[in-house]
Amino acid sequence: MVKKEFKAESKRLLEMMVNSIYSQKEIFLRELISNSSDAIDKMYYKALTDDSISFEKDNYYIKVSADKENRILTITDTGIGMTKEDLENNLGIIAKSGSLTFKKENEAKDGHDIIGQFGVGFYSAFMVADKVTVVSRAVGSNEAYKWESEGAEGYTIEPVEKDSVGTEITLKIKENTEEETFDEYLEEYRLRGIIKKYSDFIRYPIKMDVTTS
Ligand code: ADP
Ligand code: MG
Repeated sequence: MVKKEFKAESKRLLEMMVNSIYSQKEIFLRELISNSSDAIDKMYYKALTDDSISFEKDNYYIKVSADKENRILTITDTGIGMTKEDLENNLGIIAKSGSLTFKKENEAKDGHDIIGQFGVGFYSAFMVADKVTVVSRAVGSNEAYKWESEGAEGYTIEPVEKDSVGTEITLKIKENTEEETFDEYLEEYRLRGIIKKYSDFIRYPIKMDVTTS
């Protein structure tokens, strides 16, 4: 499988995330949940104008699952999903967020300021994960794709099976180091605390599922 390179500015932001010493690494969960919520919003708006889609509120939710033993944290949503092209375009390059502003105005500032000032988006996952896998199936498509990256070296995309429309983001949580611990991002009470702190206003249910062994 061919590994594709990130665009230059994405690569820089990514490197910054991977090596982040930022004290509020916890915001990665806010970013991923807000993306899931946006994706469900998009489904909702699509349903308003597309008679072939009905929006049953109960079918739309975000789920956070932790598997402590395997150090896996998964954020699943039943939102609009991404096509292969979307995965390329949305995750391979920095499109929006604060990233353009970041580039223009903060060239000289260090990571702390940038992360603090702007929503850093999807790449913030790399503050706590050494591998990020995105499996997604877009509405109206029966194909699904897997995007995977271990950081700034690049990413791969390949076809996979997925039964339902939506996106599943899997984080392989970093091992603890002498300086910092990452175990906490697999602990139910900690995850609940982060969700309460940053994502309390999210309009869709956030389900939680933690397995210890
Ligand atoms: P922003 O949310 O500000 O656009 P992000 O870096 O957080 O920036 O996300 C980049 C893009 O990736 C989003 O705009 C969206 O198109 C896509 N994306 C990310 N997560 C999801 C998801 N769970 N479902 C659908 N699309 C997503
Ligand atoms: Mg976002």
